[in-house]
Amino acid sequence: MGRKFFVGGNWKCNGTAEEVKKIVNTLNEGQVPSQDVVEVVVSPPFVFLPLVKSLLRPDFHVAAQNCWVKKGGAYTGEISAEMLVNLDIPWVIIGHSERRLILGESNEFVGDKVAYALSKGLKVIACVGETLEQREAGTTVEVVAAQTKAIAELVSDWTNVVLAYEPVWAIGTGKVATPAQAQEVHDELRKWLHQNTSPEVAATTRIIYGGSVNAANSKELAVQPDVDGFLVGGASLKPEFIDIIKSAE
Ligand code: PGA
Repeated sequence: MGRKFFVGGNWKCNGTAEEVKKIVNTLNEGQVPSQDVVEVVVSPPFVFLPLVKSLLRPDFHVAAQNCWVKKGGAYTGEISAEMLVNLDIPWVIIGHSERRLILGESNEFVGDKVAYALSKGLKVIACVGETLEQREAGTTVEVVAAQTKAIAELVSDWTNVVLAYEPVWAIGTGKVATPAQAQEVHDELRKWLHQNTSPEVAATTRIIYGGSVNAANSKELAVQPDVDGFLVGGASLKPEFIDIIKSAE
């Protein structure tokens, strides 16, 4: 269906300027498939975005890890979508589980943020995923459907959205979803999009997997028919990120 493989690196709240420069150097030297085959986006902390953007190879792009839900103003500590656009930052991650669970971002708030960021011209990596309790209770599909619904209610054009399925129990735990587990939820998400948005959106929207992806497990995940790429945390800070990108081939 022509869904170009997508590999995102979520650096989270890590790094010093020196460390960030080292990571960028490693990325710049890495041999990876061409931009026709894989889209690569790295997401440093806000303060390092201009630095990374200025040093990073031109075939890789940058993403912010969050942005504010509406036009900027009296919102101490927030960064607006307009500011990202002003600095030519093309992408933003929205609704990461760490923000949902630690900072209390609701499905509706995440949906509002996605819609606002898109309206300002940003491309969005929108994250969904269930907790361990929700998986054990058998509500995984219900949970990710509700999270996706809150976005779909406000967004009709999905061209600039990448949907990231990130089971919370797999994030930073070293406990990766099996290829079958990932494929099952990606397939359910695509079916949900088919029924609730349009067949075109379902066929063309990239659904990427995140949660303890590394160079050792990325290949077998990448060959699943509905896994269109990855959102990588811990391993995106290491040279093995290059090998993960290569799993696009
Ligand atoms: P992880 O994080 O790869 O370190 O599990 C993934 C993420 O949170 O995006």
